[in-house]
Amino acid sequence: MNTLHRRDLIRLGGTLALAGGLSACGAEEVAEAMAPVEGELTGPEDALRRLLEGNERFVHGETVNLNEDSKRRAAIANGQEPFAIILSCVDSRVPPELIFDRGLGDLFVIRTAGHAVDDVVMGSVEFGAHELHIPLIMVLGHERCGAVKATVAAVKAERAGEPAEPAGPANSIGALVERIRPAVEDVMEQGGDTVDKAIDANVFRVMEQLESSPTLKELVSSAKLRVVGARYDLDSGRVDLIP
Ligand SMILES: [Zn+2]
Repeated sequence: MNTLHRRDLIRLGGTLALAGGLSACGAEEVAEAMAPVEGELTGPEDALRRLLEGNERFVHGETVNLNEDSKRRAAIANGQEPFAIILSCVDSRVPPELIFDRGLGDLFVIRTAGHAVDDVVMGSVEFGAHELHIPLIMVLGHERCGAVKATVAAVKAERAGEPAEPAGPANSIGALVERIRPAVEDVMEQGGDTVDKAIDANVFRVMEQLESSPTLKELVSSAKLRVVGARYDLDSGRVDLIP
């Protein structure tokens, strides 16, 4: 009787284990099983490695939807510790969480057209680096950027002596063009594909702007923060660091 009872228990246990196994095959659990195991963040290099590895998964169609599940949502509900600040363009084809295969609470994302920086953007970046102790800032430009294209067109028209656009309803697009203009003027005389060159120049200009902030400069000089520039390829999905 005892033996039978034990056998029944074993059978029951097996059934339960099987049921558990089946429920563990939900999308969230499968993604979790494939996700890289990450320890404590060690600094800027570790943050950069996480970004580039996530992008590698994205490029090869091997995304694991890292940190997108309900467990993660609950774990970070009372506090965030993102590991990278991404300052990037508003272009709908370049969503940072998707192209780096990251989820909730991972990235501190600030997006403006052509990743243009004004005081509010600068304050947001400083908040992430100084208050949240995020060790990495990536300025992320992208191929065929519409904001850069528009600025190149405006500067070319101006140089050709063409009359300015007829006045329409008031807008602030001119202010945006003025932010990107110095990068375009940097490469205007170089020949070749001005838009393409201005995209990289715009990343450099914005990196310089960030590094001119006393708050960020101090963090960089004490090796608590690294600022990198990168460029997203719309065709391949790859993010390459700009040397
Ligand atoms: Zn853009």
